[in-house]
Amino acid sequence: MSELHALFGGTFDPIHFGHLRPVEALAQQTGLARVLLLPNNVPPHRPQPEASATQRVDMLRCAIRDRPLFDIDTRELLRETPSWTVATLEALRAERGPAQPLGFIIGQDSLLNLSGWHRWQDLLSLCHLLVCKRPGYPAQMATPEMQRWLDSHLASETPQLHQQPAGFIWLADTPLVDISATEIRQRRRQGLSCDRLLPPAVIDYIDRAGLYLK
Ligand code: ATP
Repeated sequence: MSELHALFGGTFDPIHFGHLRPVEALAQQTGLARVLLLPNNVPPHRPQPEASATQRVDMLRCAIRDRPLFDIDTRELLRETPSWTVATLEALRAERGPAQPLGFIIGQDSLLNLSGWHRWQDLLSLCHLLVCKRPGYPAQMATPEMQRWLDSHLASETPQLHQQPAGFIWLADTPLVDISATEIRQRRRQGLSCDRLLPPAVIDYIDRAGLYLK
C-alpha cells in the first residue's frame, strides 16, 4: 500500500505556527508521511499578499529547513493564472495514479466555507479532506445540508485514510493555535514582537527583507 501524502494550500503571507503545529499533530495522528505546502496564486481581484510569491516561497523554505515532514509544491505559482484547488488536485491525482491515498489539509474556517469553492463536490473523489481545528470557528456547518454532507463522509478511524485513496473527511483533534497571518502583519507594523508566532528563521527572513512594515 502506498503512503498517505497531503497537500496544504495557503497564502502563507507569512507561514506561522498556526499552520505548522496543527499539521504536525495531524501527521502524527493519521500517519501522514509527507505534507506538500502549496502556496496560492492570489487572483488579481482579491487583496494581494504583501510578500511577493518568491518571498512567500523563501519563507516556506526557512520554515521547513528542520521539518522533514514538509516539502513545497510551487505549481500554482508557476501558472500565469490562479488555479482552482480541484484542478491542482486533478493534476496531482494524474501524477500519483488512482491508488495513492491523498489528503488535502484545511483549517476549520476553510471547511465552513467549502461550499463556496469551485466544484467543491468533486474534491472527495480526488482526496480525503483532513481538517485541523481553529479557535473561534464553530464545529457545526452553516446549513443542515452541509452538515449532512459532512456527517456522511466522516472517517471514524485513521486506517480508513490509508485503505482508500480518497473520499473521507477526518476531523483531527489538533491543538488550538490562535495565530493568523493578519495578526502577524499587524504586530510587525506596530513594532510588536512576533517571537512565539512563527519560526525564528522566518522572522529573520522577514527582518532582512523588511517585510510587513507599512
Ligand atoms: P490571513 O490571516 O492572511 O487570512 P491565515 O493565517 O488564515 O492568513 P492562510 O495562509 O490563509 O493563513 O491559511 C491557509 C490554511 O491554513 C487555511 O486552510 C486555514 O484554515 C489554515 N489555518 C491558518 N491559520 C490556522 C490556525 N491558526 N489554525 C488552524 N488552521 C489554520
